[in-house]
Amino acid sequence: MHTPEPTTLSNDARIVIIGAGQAGGWAAHTLRDEKFAGTITLIGEEPWPPHERPPLSKAVLAGVAPPESTHLFPLTEWAALDIDWRGHHKVLAIDRAARTVDLDDGNSVGWDRLILCTGGRARTLTIPGLEEASTTLRTIDDSIQLHHRLRPASRLLIVGGGWIGLEVAATARQLGVDVTVIETAPQLCARSLPAEAAQLLASLHKQNGVHILLGGGLCDAKKNADGSITAQLSITNQQKPTRKRTESVVNSSAGHAVTEQITADVIVAGIGMIPNDELARSAGVACANGVLVDQYCRTSDPSIFAAGDVAINSGGRATKPFRLESWQNAQQQGIAAARCALGAGTPYEPMPWFWSDQFGVNVQILGTTNDADQWIVRGSPQCITSETSVIFFYLRGGILRGVIGFNAGRDIRTARRLIEQSTVLDTDALANPSVSLKTLA
Ligand SMILES: Cc1cc2nc3c(=O)[nH]c(=O)nc-3n(C[C@H](O)[C@H](O)[C@H](O)COP(=O)(O)OP(=O)(O)OC[C@H]3O[C@@H](n4cnc5c(N)ncnc54)[C@H](O)[C@@H]3O)c2cc1C
Repeated sequence: MHTPEPTTLSNDARIVIIGAGQAGGWAAHTLRDEKFAGTITLIGEEPWPPHERPPLSKAVLAGVAPPESTHLFPLTEWAALDIDWRGHHKVLAIDRAARTVDLDDGNSVGWDRLILCTGGRARTLTIPGLEEASTTLRTIDDSIQLHHRLRPASRLLIVGGGWIGLEVAATARQLGVDVTVIETAPQLCARSLPAEAAQLLASLHKQNGVHILLGGGLCDAKKNADGSITAQLSITNQQKPTRKRTESVVNSSAGHAVTEQITADVIVAGIGMIPNDELARSAGVACANGVLVDQYCRTSDPSIFAAGDVAINSGGRATKPFRLESWQNAQQQGIAAARCALGAGTPYEPMPWFWSDQFGVNVQILGTTNDADQWIVRGSPQCITSETSVIFFYLRGGILRGVIGFNAGRDIRTARRLIEQSTVLDTDALANPSVSLKTLA
């Protein structure tokens, strides 16, 4: 990959952004921040102005914050940017030769630069009988509808023990809902958490009354006359649900799969997302389960850029293509893509950072944890509450590569410096809560 030639787009140039989520909203704002005076058209399928999603599984789902709290910019600030915002409109096709996009209202919009911020959609359950009965959580509308279904003492089954599933579990428990989470892997958040951190998260949920079933899945379901759903679960490890939680054991064989029935009023699938890369693929832009971009956010077409959840990053220091599904990445890569579209970009090589809030505990993951050859813990890895703090440090050759902090926001900021300084650290000092991390930086 080579450094792009600086291009100065003239004041009558047209930039189209598809997708008005976090990445698209920040891309549009940045174009104006960078003094681009041409036409910016932002097309979003959802009716809402650019918005972020983290509150949708937290405060908005709990009903303590309105949907408008997710909007990225105050409406007056947004209006002052003079952006041709086409809300509630879907782009149906990209014509790269004519440099136009076709909208679902029959109109076409021309572009000199195109930025794809189409994000992803929630993966749904494919079990017969469950397509309609289960729900997912991705959009503002999903969050509002699910909130109305989470009544005290109602029974919620969450399929998938990843971040969305666990945040829904935490919010629902706080609303007095009876919550079971079933996860196929032998641990929670298997894609992003090492086992020891996942165990601590599981203990937090168990302390707060969430029933967690690991190594299991849904195999069948039927809707009952009262609207509830009876689901059949297959659990392959020793963690059988207790009798109190399940209505009956249908089939069992010691040490192998047991099939259990559970009745729920609501089923939420938290089983990941599918990147919305179909538009790019149909237009012949290179994709691999997402739109492929280099560190300048460029796709295989040099006048088309991509950012956020839809982008698969390669080039630069990356040893293999990767996607970062996080709030920070959507914002920072949206900003980077806008600058690159103007020819003013620098390589986008973020240090991965993700956060979550569950039961009053803030979890943050910084850097990489999966290539470590040693981990050190500061604090008790058995138990976490809103009053305590635990940090896991992941090192390779004595050099800090990543950190997972539970209620450790300030230390995470220092840890960023420790990761960046890339020197061999004193592991005894890392493990000792009475040694300030700042003294190591
Ligand atoms: C419920 C929830 C909670 C989360 N919580 C956290 C958290 O606590 N911490 C964290 O770091 N991350 C969190 N995330 C992840 C983070 O929100 C996402 O990574 C981020 O929203 C991605 O932004 P995006 O702009 O790339 O995509 P999206 O937010 O998916 O936006 C893409 C937009 O493009 C639109 N679109 C798609 N195709 C078209 C088309 N053809 N025409 C027009 N419009 C189109 C879509 O309708 C959508 O509005 C959470 C995500 C969810 C769903």
